[in-house]
Amino acid sequence: MWTNVDTINTKQLIILDDQYSLSPSYSCSHPTKTSTIVTTQLQLLHIKMSATESSSIFTLSHNSNLQDILAANSKWASQMNNVQPTLFPDHNAKGQSPHTLFIGCSDSRYNENCLGVLPGEVFTWKNVANICHSEDLTLKATLEFAIICLKVNKVIICGHTDCGGIKTCLTNQREALPNANCSHLYKYLDDIDTMYHEESQNLVHLKTQREKSHYLSHCNVKRQFNRIIENPTVQTAVQNGEVQVYGLLYNVEDGLLQTVSTYSKAIPK
Ligand SMILES: [Zn+2]
Repeated sequence: MWTNVDTINTKQLIILDDQYSLSPSYSCSHPTKTSTIVTTQLQLLHIKMSATESSSIFTLSHNSNLQDILAANSKWASQMNNVQPTLFPDHNAKGQSPHTLFIGCSDSRYNENCLGVLPGEVFTWKNVANICHSEDLTLKATLEFAIICLKVNKVIICGHTDCGGIKTCLTNQREALPNANCSHLYKYLDDIDTMYHEESQNLVHLKTQREKSHYLSHCNVKRQFNRIIENPTVQTAVQNGEVQVYGLLYNVEDGLLQTVSTYSKAIPK
């Protein structure tokens, strides 16, 4: 059942699924429903919190203080209760049963909400440039917790266009990081820099920095995807038919996802 609500913004119709928007059996290749839900979540999250910030489309700013943050949270929770009264008391208060693990970049322009989901649907891990080293303890623990304990049946590794980590390497600015008190970031971005140099022969055919950045974002999804599907926890779950893995690229220019890679149990012919 779909519910029409117009209490938040009278100029825009808000369409909200009456229950969680993705079920465990939901296919991510459902553009019509997903795009509608994305609209809903964006509208929910862009509630104006302060008259003093009315010139900005954003909720908070560098000038916001703790009082502003708590007021924003209170209003968000109230709005969530208005449009989905059962979410907190009947679902989130009783535990979580997420259907999806979402791994993405820490970039502020996207997160699991690009799927139009509600709190309780997606288990999330984000880091700079969505790097997934095979021996990263956080990666291995996150995969075990999500797949074995929470029993998600989808793992999404989602990169994005215009990634700062990638552009830092692409524009050869990484070398300057140690002198800017960012020695850890310099070391951290070694994986992206290695990828950049490995792809140098392909990059020469691309004319603009934007095209090269986009290409490397695509490559980075593949790179991290290939590591994730080699993880023993993922391997076992996929072979048992319990999990599918999707490599996706989020475009910050239009909010849409592009499929880069998929991995699931081969169906016998
Ligand atoms: Zn990024």
